[in-house]
Formats: sequence, C-alpha cells, structure tokens
Amino acid sequence: MKVFGPYKRKDGRQIVIVVERNGKRRTVSYPKWILELQLGRKLDPNLETVDHIDSDFNNNSISNLRIMPRDQHSADDTRRVKKVKFECAWCGKEFERSPRLIRDKAKKGKAGPFCSRTCAGRYSRQLQLKLIDKMDSQQAIDSEYYKRKYASVMVSSDFFIDFICDIWEE
Ligand SMILES: [Zn+2]
Repeated sequence: MKVFGPYKRKDGRQIVIVVERNGKRRTVSYPKWILELQLGRKLDPNLETVDHIDSDFNNNSISNLRIMPRDQHSADDTRRVKKVKFECAWCGKEFERSPRLIRDKAKKGKAGPFCSRTCAGRYSRQLQLKLIDKMDSQQAIDSEYYKRKYASVMVSSDFFIDFICDIWEE
C-alpha cells in the first residue's frame, strides 16, 4: 500500500490518495486518515465522524481531531463566544479577542486593550517613567454567543462533506 499526499482540494479540504497493492486507488479525507492511523482501525462511516475540536478544518494536527458519533456531530450544541475586534490602545493594530478576557481586565480597571504583552509592557514602562499619563480603563463589552450546527453529506463510502452553519443567539 502506498499513500500520496496530503493534497488540498479546491474547497480547502485535505485528502490523501491510497493505492492498494492490487492497484486500487481511493481518496480518503486527510484528518480521517490521520485519526485512523492513530487508532489503528477504520472509522465506521455510518456511526463515526471526525470532529475538528477548534472547528478549523485546516487544523489537522492529531490533538485537534476526535471521533464524534455521526448523529451527535449533526446536532452539536456547544455555545461559542463570538470574538470581537479591538484596536490596540498602544500600537493601533486591530486584533481579535474573546470579550470575556477584555471584561475581566476592564473590571480590574486596567488600561487597554493591548494586542500583545509587548504593547502592554511598553505602556506600563512609559507610565512608570512618567512619560505618559494613565490611560482610561478599557471598556467592558458584552459577549455574543452562537451555536454551531454541523451537517454531513455522504459522497462515497469513505468521503463526507461537512457543512457548518452558525446560529446567533438573541
Ligand atoms: Zn499593540
């Protein structure tokens, strides 16, 4: 048996091509291939599906993959927090962060938000040297939540296309 790839399909998904000794070729989803290698067995395509823990289909590192029962995968109900874009109070760079982290700092009356420790450090150093005035404490922002729904369509016995749709909470 020979394995070629991984190759990236047009939709961004990674696949490998498996060529059996008898010359038979089959296409296997790369994350599924990795997970099966790790488990030392094949997944049951009717019952099991590969779940990307962080929902990023391109992150095929083994630590990001887990088996999920197919029916459960279709009805994933995990509540996720929408990341919010902030502008760094020091360098002005735009960055994304969970509102909860910003809220915790806002409660403590900390200045910011800062995109990085470097920027936070530069601010406090300048403040210490009394080169700048203390900034206002950062503003708390409410979290927005959404649920991610999965749907899976079987294309062939060992190939599924997964869809994601995000449903926002009011
Ligand atoms: Zn910054």
